[in-house]
Amino acid sequence: MACIRRKMKTIVFLHVLSTVVWCAPPRCDPEDDFLGRFCKEPVPEKPKCMDIMMSYCDDMSYTHTMFPNILGHRTREEAELGPEYLLLSVADTLLNGQCMPDVRLLGCSVLVPRCEKEKMLKPCRSTCEAVRRSCQHAFEGIDMAWPYFLDCDRFFVSDQEGCYDPLEDLRVTQEEAQASLDFVPQDHHTVIQFSYHSNSQMNSLLKKTAARCPDISTTYSIGRSVEGKDLLVIEFSNNPGVHELLEPEIKYIGNMHGNEVLGRQLLIYLAQYLCSEYQLGNHRIQTLINTTRIHILPSMNPDGYELAAAEVQGANDHENEEASYYNSWTLGRGNAQNIDLNRNFPDLTNIAYSRRRHSRFRSDHIPIPDSYWFGKVAPETYAVMKWLRSIPFVLSANFHGGELVVSYPFDLSKHPQGQKMFSPTPDEQVFKQIARTYANAHATMSGNNSESCGNFGGQGGIVNGAQWYSIAGGMQDFNYLHTNCFEVTVELGCDKFPAEEELYTGWQDNKEALLTFMESVHRGIKGVVTDVDGNGIKGARISIKGVRHDITTAENGDYWRLITAGTHILTASAPGYTKAMKKVRLPARMQKAGRVDFVLQKAVDKPDLEEDFNIPSMGTYERFDPYNHYERYVSEQNQNREERLEKPWWWSYFSRAHGSSPTWLLRTD
Ligand SMILES: [Zn+2]
Repeated sequence: MACIRRKMKTIVFLHVLSTVVWCAPPRCDPEDDFLGRFCKEPVPEKPKCMDIMMSYCDDMSYTHTMFPNILGHRTREEAELGPEYLLLSVADTLLNGQCMPDVRLLGCSVLVPRCEKEKMLKPCRSTCEAVRRSCQHAFEGIDMAWPYFLDCDRFFVSDQEGCYDPLEDLRVTQEEAQASLDFVPQDHHTVIQFSYHSNSQMNSLLKKTAARCPDISTTYSIGRSVEGKDLLVIEFSNNPGVHELLEPEIKYIGNMHGNEVLGRQLLIYLAQYLCSEYQLGNHRIQTLINTTRIHILPSMNPDGYELAAAEVQGANDHENEEASYYNSWTLGRGNAQNIDLNRNFPDLTNIAYSRRRHSRFRSDHIPIPDSYWFGKVAPETYAVMKWLRSIPFVLSANFHGGELVVSYPFDLSKHPQGQKMFSPTPDEQVFKQIARTYANAHATMSGNNSESCGNFGGQGGIVNGAQWYSIAGGMQDFNYLHTNCFEVTVELGCDKFPAEEELYTGWQDNKEALLTFMESVHRGIKGVVTDVDGNGIKGARISIKGVRHDITTAENGDYWRLITAGTHILTASAPGYTKAMKKVRLPARMQKAGRVDFVLQKAVDKPDLEEDFNIPSMGTYERFDPYNHYERYVSEQNQNREERLEKPWWWSYFSRAHGSSPTWLLRTD
């Protein structure tokens, strides 16, 4: 600090006196080291071994160190004031105890290297590499780069060069602990820890799970929350990252309301379960993953969760029952802008209602009105909308808490003044079937169990959304009216933030329902629409006679249509082609989707205008956010956002660091 002040004075004096005042070189920065500057300063002759005496490094397996250390800090004070030591002192908090003490001890071995007989010993590269392999995900989980001073190639050496293992003592302790547990038989079942997970723990656990099952799993982010947290999805499929022809895609979304948390936890457990059971040879899980592409977003609102979890924790700490109850029902519901995400989607239901008397109107692929983009669009909502449009989802469930019921579209009442008014979609029978699939497979939802909390057991644990209470801008209505996806809202229980002890019961109650629901995506019919040369036709419409809701084909002409058993008349149509019609009888209790393909002939004549008008143009639909309103909104309304994105939440820990700020902790990828 003194040096910086002196430097500033120097600049002032330079103008007046034109003299150069030499400021003592700062300690070795990574960049300086890279440039070969400052690091090769002459040092006092013959450095000697001395006591470590640094509190966060006092449990090393040795007691003596030497300065300058491996990073070029010339004294203990210099090392103590650097951002490297600061990181080691807060890493336990930042990483939520993950990878501790391994990361800290590894850092100490560079900062206060072992000294023996007046000689410095360097730590082993193999140790560093092992820690990095198992701990990199923890840093990724909080969006932090792997610290430069733990670069295994740069600061660590090999056995041949006479290295020592800084984690040796730790390993001995762990082996002793393991040995005392050795009587426990090796259990080949999925081990899940039924506890709550912070955002960073969740993300790192998802990445770890995908790393454990790399052949069937991967993670990807669909965007970031207001506070810059990744909205992380874990995907399961026998070909992760790729849409396969005719393979249906399903999604699960949890924690849309940040204070409704059971769904979030269930989805974290589900991911671990799918990975382990697949590897253990569970036939049911293998079949599911080999035939389905599953996308799981455990938290759509990580910012809200953080707020809710902090409040519940605070209330529990004070043993204030009333506060706990009150808080868990209110704080953190919205995102960090206090937007309720389940009211923030474009209200297409109103548009559908206003046009429903038009004879040619179909309630599907309704474009987003331009006016929507002038309102407040939450980044979480935007991320999910883009996601919905990028993958041909067939079926979805969105998990909430506060009741015990599955609610299905429409969520908006068909009459503006109509409270509790039954407001069905053209696919009422299909939605009822989908909702029952979950409710019936749930342990208590559909029964008249007096112990269950809900009001809907008497009606099978399902309800039409608007009949329960009407909302506009909800996600399930948007799914149905804008995409091919059929989504329902699952209310998992009356307690929005249950006690940790209840998480295991929650999993037991829902496990079968979660699996059965995913399997049910293989109902109805599916097929491919091609031209006479066998090329798939993208965007062709599949209509069912009597149902004013079409499904469109995906990139390679494949489609999925959830329908109930019975006889249906199907039509496939696409601009520039003649229509094709098929009569299909779908038996009850079909285990697999019936396959119905269509081959469309090129229309020879000039297209019949009347005919073409019946096929609404997809042109308007394709223009998602046509004028980049959202992008503009983000940059204009929230200049801070970019700054915040550059500087993650943990940055404040380093704002008072002496010397240079540790920009090396910011990820550049
Ligand atoms: Zn909710």
